[in-house]
Amino acid sequence: MNDDVRDVIIVGGGPAGYTAALYAARANLRPLVIEGFNWGGQLMITSDVENYPGYPDGVIGPEMMAEFRRQAERFGTDFVTDDVTEVDFSERPFRLTVDKDVYLARSVIVATGASARWLGIEGEQRLQGRGVSACATCDGAFFRDKHIFVAGGGDSAFEEALFLTRFGYKVTIVHRRNEFRASQIMVDRARENEKIELLTPFVVEEVLGEASISGLRLRNTETDELQDVEAGALFVAIGHDPNTTLFVDQLDHDGAGYLVTRPGATETNVPGVFAAGDVQDHVYRQAITAAGSGCMAALDAERFLAADEGHTGTALTAPRPEAESAQV
Ligand code: NAP
Repeated sequence: MNDDVRDVIIVGGGPAGYTAALYAARANLRPLVIEGFNWGGQLMITSDVENYPGYPDGVIGPEMMAEFRRQAERFGTDFVTDDVTEVDFSERPFRLTVDKDVYLARSVIVATGASARWLGIEGEQRLQGRGVSACATCDGAFFRDKHIFVAGGGDSAFEEALFLTRFGYKVTIVHRRNEFRASQIMVDRARENEKIELLTPFVVEEVLGEASISGLRLRNTETDELQDVEAGALFVAIGHDPNTTLFVDQLDHDGAGYLVTRPGATETNVPGVFAAGDVQDHVYRQAITAAGSGCMAALDAERFLAADEGHTGTALTAPRPEAESAQV
C-alpha cells in the first residue's frame, strides 16, 4: 500500500492521459500517470500523422507520443509503466491496484482509450503474427511483394492500405458494403493509387493456411457466394472497442462499453472520477479531440479538488508569474 494520497491519478498514456497530466502538473497537482505497459496508445501503431495542428510536415505517431510524455514529465508528472489491475471507486480516497501495489487518489482521470477490433473468424487468431495483423506500421514490412488484403471501409482501412502500398505489389481493401465510411479524400487517394483495388460488397469469412497465411475465403454479402483467393497478409482495420473492462462495474457506460460523461464535461457518475479521450468518445476519436478532452478532465478535476476540503494544489485560474509562458 502506498500511503501517499495523490490529488490526481491518471489511468492511460495516450494523448488524453498525457495532456491531462500536463495540465494537472502545471497546476501543482503532482499527477501520477499509470500509463500502461504499452504506453502511447493507438498512435504507437500509426505512421504519419498529418492532421495534428502544429506539425505542418506531419509527424510519426510514436515520436509524437514521446513528445507528449516528455512535456508532461517536464512539469513534474510521475509515471508507473504498468497496467492497472483493479480499481475501487466505491469510497474515497479511490484505490487503484497495479498487481500488489495499491495507489490512493482524491480524483481519477480515466483515459484508457480504445483497442483494435478483430473479425472473430476462423484462422484469424491462429495466424496472428503469421500473416494476420491489425497494425500496418508494425508489420507491413514483413509482406514485401505480397498481395496484401485490408478488411474494413473506414479511414483506418484506407490509411493502412495506402501505407501498405509501400510493401505489397497489390493491396485489396475488402469492405462489406458498396459505400465507404472513410472520408472522401482517403477514398480518392486510394482510387488514384494503381496498387489499390477496392473489393465490395465482401467480407472475409476465413483465413486460410497452416503455418502461415496462404489465402482468404471471401463471401459476397449480397449473393452469399464464396470465393477463395491467394493472400500474403490480412490487415484487420474494422474499428475499435473502448478499454473499459476495469470500469464498467463502477462507472456508467453505454451499450458498447464507452464511459458516459456529463455532456460538455468529463465528469462520470462518480464525483471525482473523470473520463477523457476515446474511452468516452465513439464519435470523433482523434488525437486532437482526445488531447482536448484530457485538458478538460484536468480542469474539471482541479475544480473538483478546489471545492474539496484539504486541497493543496494551485488553482488553474490563479494569477501566474509574469515571466511564465502563457497557457493557451
Ligand atoms: P470506423 O470508422 O468505425 O470504420 C470501421 C469500418 O469497419 C467500417 O467501414 C465498418 O463497416 C467495418 N466493419 C466493422 N465491423 C466489421 C466486421 N465485423 N466485418 C467487416 N467490416 C466491419 O473505424 P476506423 O476506420 O478505425 O476509424 C475510427 C475513427 O478514427 C473515425 O472517426 C476515423 O475518421 C478516424 N480515423 C481518421 C484517420 C485520419 O484522418 N487519418 C485515420 C484513421 C482513423 P460499415 O461501414 O459497414 O459499418
